[in-house]
Parts: sequence; structure tokens; C-alpha cells
Amino acid sequence: MSLSTTILTDDFTRDDLEPTLGKGDAEQIVVRNGTSWKCPTYVQRLPPCRDACPSSEDIRGYLTTIAQADKVKMSIEDALDEAWYRLTDTNPMPAIHGRICPHPCETGCNRKHLDDGSVAINNMERYVGDHGIRRNLKLTMLTKEKKHKSVAIIGSGPSGLSCAYQLARRGYEVTIYEAFEKAGGMLRYGIPDYRLPPAVLDAEIQNILDLGVKLKCNTRVGKDVSVAKLKKKYDAIYIAIGAHKGSAMGLEGENSANVFTAAGFLNRVNTGAKVDIGSQVVVVGGGDSAMDAARVSLRLQSDMDEAEADGDETAYNKARAALDAAHQEEGNVISTEKTAVDSARIVRRVSKYSKVTLLYRRTKDEMPAIAKDVVEAEHEGIEFQLLSTPVGLETQGGRVVAIKCIRMELGAPDASGRRSPVPIKGSEYSVPCDTLIMGIGQVPELEEGMEDLANKWGWLTANNTHQTKDPQIFAGGDVLGLGISTRSVGQGRVAARAIDGYLKGVPYQLPHKGKPIKTEQMRMSFYKPAPRNEEEAIPIEEAVKGFVETTQTITTTQALAEAKRCMSCGLCFACDQCRIFCPREAIHKDMKRPKGRVMFTDYTRCNGCHVCHMACPCGYIQMGMGL
Ligand SMILES: Cc1cc2nc3c(=O)[nH]c(=O)nc-3n(C[C@H](O)[C@H](O)[C@H](O)COP(=O)(O)OP(=O)(O)OC[C@H]3O[C@@H](n4cnc5c(N)ncnc54)[C@H](O)[C@@H]3O)c2cc1C
Ligand code: SF4
Ligand code: SF4
Ligand code: SF4
Repeated sequence: MSLSTTILTDDFTRDDLEPTLGKGDAEQIVVRNGTSWKCPTYVQRLPPCRDACPSSEDIRGYLTTIAQADKVKMSIEDALDEAWYRLTDTNPMPAIHGRICPHPCETGCNRKHLDDGSVAINNMERYVGDHGIRRNLKLTMLTKEKKHKSVAIIGSGPSGLSCAYQLARRGYEVTIYEAFEKAGGMLRYGIPDYRLPPAVLDAEIQNILDLGVKLKCNTRVGKDVSVAKLKKKYDAIYIAIGAHKGSAMGLEGENSANVFTAAGFLNRVNTGAKVDIGSQVVVVGGGDSAMDAARVSLRLQSDMDEAEADGDETAYNKARAALDAAHQEEGNVISTEKTAVDSARIVRRVSKYSKVTLLYRRTKDEMPAIAKDVVEAEHEGIEFQLLSTPVGLETQGGRVVAIKCIRMELGAPDASGRRSPVPIKGSEYSVPCDTLIMGIGQVPELEEGMEDLANKWGWLTANNTHQTKDPQIFAGGDVLGLGISTRSVGQGRVAARAIDGYLKGVPYQLPHKGKPIKTEQMRMSFYKPAPRNEEEAIPIEEAVKGFVETTQTITTTQALAEAKRCMSCGLCFACDQCRIFCPREAIHKDMKRPKGRVMFTDYTRCNGCHVCHMACPCGYIQMGMGL
């Protein structure tokens, strides 16, 4: 009797293959280049969630590990540990990304085609990440062998950290050079604490450093140490310096004392510097930094509101009288008299009139900021003035007091496919302002030794494995172009593989990705409705008062239920349907076999009737390939 299994076309990613293939498995592969002489064949496919995750996380792998814990008689705690190890193989910072990632994986998830919506992958990632921190789980080495080669990484943002992790676990000596006082890049100096608590950041960074990665803070490469010196000292270099120089609008008066770039403003707040912003803050832009700057401003105003609300009643009355006078005189709260302005500010704060306005030249649909943050910002009370852009600044005594804006309408699509905003003639108007924050983008601050690797717009360029035109130097993350954190992590990982290849003299090639499995290739009717498990948010009135985290990690009960919502697209999840329906009793199950490979066919009994293929919900069984 021939009891053959399995598996695997060339239609898989290497990362998919590695965790499931054991020694000697090559003999068992019965499908090559899409053909096979046997049927049914078990064909592992790339799930669309993983395809869409820029870090290439094994989402299906860790979710089904949790979901199937009871079937394989594993304790929940052990299953969660294993899930964490699977997840951190490609992304060592799940608790961070479970909080801040805009989760393109969920947009890819096949479950979105069912009424109950995509799997809440981001919530699961946060839950599993927090589990790892709570259990003090340690990132794993891939080898004990020391490579006796060293790599310098410039920048300790997510890209530098990811690259450091992947190199250190492969036995390289890694040193990170960081200009700021602490590691984390924009995760620490851009993203506010209410979205990413520093304790979470610290824990996951420390885990990477614990692999033996050296960190030299307060060291700006290009100033404190030259790139040329690093080239002599290290075998390879990875540049991951991000893009920290806030772009300016080019308007006269934007160098005034009360004008900040969003990156500069957030950096000051995140490093604990005191920033007096007044009661009328105007933020320009529709990206992440603009949104964060607006929400941080609201919280700073709230701090002041509280302090002043506790203050002297007489001062309040005096201020209100001055404001009334200012109104009568000018019909506008912005007066040329400093006292009136100050009074107006006090009254605004005391009477909760503080205001943060966000100006964006397109509509909300075109905003590049993370959708969830846009919704939260609006709920928290940020006023959006859409289809509007600044055209001039009104200054007094070296400070901007009002912004002259013009209304816009959407015209033809530009190169990015978004409709271009076009000014409407004669629609100018003024917005009063105590503080102006420009959140219209950032560019890299390249130092000597890096400029030669840049394009004419000032961004570094590299090939698809992140090698620059100097073969010893690799680059990735935001320094190649603004993106999201998980993309930086993914690029850091690819760069580490390429550096490994470069140092071994075997150039690294990106693995063939394969096509993700579609719902048309699955039996979607098998999956029962199950509601998504969402995070709880703290009440808005609490949220805007300070910097406590605005959402809470889902509970264990929710996490177990959510993991079971994963449909295991393209990989067997031991649902038994094929075995139950096979009319010839040709299909067998052995739960002791590796996950995803527990079912196998007795080909002496199979008559190729296709029933198992039709019964399989996840599209794992193919028939008569190549016959
Ligand atoms: C306000 C804001 C909010 C954001 N929110 C999100 C979000 O919610 N989700 C998301 O996924 N992404 C978000 N992003 C984007 C994300 O933070 C970035 O894509 C990511 O941090 C880029 O990673 P990186 O490692 O390339 O660079 P960075 O994180 O910028 O790190 C670069 C590091 O290099 C250091 N450095 C610079 N020059 C030198 C030098 N010469 N020598 C030594 N060190 C140097 C810097 O100090 C910094 O620590 C946000 C960005 C901003 C600005
Ligand atoms: S890093 Fe982002 S895209 Fe990747 S799995 Fe996590 S939430 Fe999804
Ligand atoms: S159902 Fe599961 S395997 Fe399928 S795309 Fe969604 S998360 Fe991935
Ligand atoms: S029907 Fe179920 S048990 Fe059979 S191969 Fe498909 S997923 Fe696995």
C-alpha cells in the first residue's frame, strides 16, 4: 500500500516552506512546476494576508497554532509561546506593530469577503506581542556559529533594529550607531505615547539588544564618526537613518518662533521639552505626522485647560471682559492688542474653547494618514478644514497670528492617481493661529559619505536587495522614501539576508513569491459567521486629557475566538471534511504529523472522484495536476 502525502508546488515562498519542511522532505514533494502524476495532491499556497504584510509575517501559521491548540493537545500558554516565536521570526517587534501598524494584511485577508469582515490580525499581533513581553520570551538565534565578520548599522529605527536582529541571530557582530539619546527612531521620537507606550518600545528593543547587538547612542555618523571610518572598521554597513527633516511650505514668515515642523514638534514633546502652543493651533497636512501633531496639541491644550481651570476666578472674569472688549472693537477674537489675545486665550482654555484645526488640501478620502487615526482625531475634536491650503502668513512681533488660506477643488488625477487640488479663485479666508505646525512631509538628513548614494531629490537609492551602488553599503527604510514601520522592518530583514550573502560571497536573490490563494479557490460556505473581536477604546474625554494609551489589548477569550476566525487559506487545518466525505475511505489523519500535513491519501484506494477537492474549505487539495 502506498501512503504518500503531500505537498508543495513551486508556488510558495521560501519563508512559507522553511518552517514546514523537515529533513528528507524533498523526496515527498510530488508536485513540481505545477505538475504531478498523483491525485489528490496537497498544495500549500501563499495566504493573501502574508502577501500583503510588508514584514511577511507568518500570520496563518501563528493564528492556526493558537486555533488548533486543543486539537493537538497543547496548552494555550504553550501555543501562544509558539505563536510568538513564529511571528518574531520575521518581525521582532509584534507588540509595537500590533499597536501602530495600519495593517495592510487585513485588507488582503480573504475573510473580508464574508459578512463578518477580515480577521483582526493587528489586534492578534498586539495580543501575541504582549504575551511575549509578559512571559519574557527571548528572540532566538539561528546558529551558534560565530561569523567573525562585523556590520555597522546607522540608525536605530525599525529598519536598523530589524536588520540588526536578523544579522545577530545569524552570528554576525553588529553595532548600531544612533544620533539620538535612545534607540527607536520615529517609533520613539515621532509616534506619541498614547499610541505606543515607551515601556512596550523599550521591552522589544531590549530583546533585540540582548542578542549581543551593541548600541552607540548620541553618535551621529557623518559628524561624530565618518562613513569612511566605518567602511574601514566594518565588513558591511546598513544605512537606515530615516527621514527626519520636516519639509517647509515656502511661505514668508514660516521661520517665526511659533512655527514648527510636525517632526520637530513631536520630537520636542516626546523628549519631554515644554512647548507652549496657545489655544489656537493650526496643523497643515494629512499624513501621520500631521495627525499626530494635531492630537498631541489637543492633549497639551488639555493640560493647560486643567491648570487654568483650577486658577483664579477673578483672572477668568478679567480675561472674559477683555475678550468681550476685543470682540466689540474688532468683531474678531484675534486682536492686535497682546492683552486681548492673551485674555482670549485664557478664556478659550477656561471655557474649553481651545481649538486645533487641521488644514488639508484634498478630502478625507485622500489623506495618507492611517484611517483609524483620522477617525480618532475627528472624534477627539480636531476640526478638519478640508480642500484648503495656506497661501500666506500674517505675522506680528515675530509670531504668526493668522494664516491666509484658499479653498480648493479636486481636478484631474495626478501621477499618484489622486485627484489634484486646484485653487478656487477669490475664495481666500483667514484662520487665526497661536501655533502653526507644518506636517507636509519629511526628507532625509544625509551626511557626508551618504550624499553620493542619493538621487537628485535627496533620497538614497538601492537595488531590490537593498545594496547601494557601493557594494559594501546597503540602505533601507524611510531613507529610500517615506513609508510605514512594518515596511522598514521587512526591508531591514531583506537587507540582512543580502548582507549575509555579500559577506559569504553568495549573492542573495529574492525568493519567488507565488500567487496568493483567492476565495474562488476555496469553499467559503464552510466557514460559520463569527464577529470580529475589537479592541476597547478608553472614553474620549479621558483620552484627550493626557498621554495614556487610547486602546486596550483584546482579552484572552477574545484572542482565542479571533484566532479561530482565521480560515487557514491555502493550508490544511485538519477540519476532516475530506476524510468524512471520501466515498472510498482513502484519506487518513495523523495528528502527530507536522502541522498542515496531518492528512494523507492511500492512493491504492483513491479513484480520483474529486470529492475531497470539493469538500476542502481552504483550497489545499488539487486534482489531476498535469494529467
Ligand atoms: C509622526 C509619525 C507618526 C507615524 N506613525 C506611524 C504609524 O502609526 N504606523 C506606522 O507603521 N508608521 C508610522 N510612521 C512611519 C514610521 O515611523 C516610519 O516609516 C519608520 O519609523 C521608518 O523607520 P526607519 O528605521 O527607516 O527610520 P526612523 O524610524 O526614522 O529611524 C532612523 C534613525 O536613524 C537615526 N539617525 C539619523 N541620522 C543619523 C546619523 N547620521 N547617524 C546616526 N543615526 C542617525 C535617527 O535618529 C533615527 O533614530 C510615522 C511617522 C511619523 C513621523
Ligand atoms: S506588521 Fe502590519 S501588515 Fe504585517 S501582520 Fe502586522 S499588522 Fe499586518
Ligand atoms: S483568513 Fe487567515 S489565512 Fe486567510 S487571509 Fe485571513 S488571516 Fe490569512
Ligand atoms: S478538507 Fe480539511 S482536513 Fe482535508 S485537506 Fe482540506 S483542510 Fe485539511
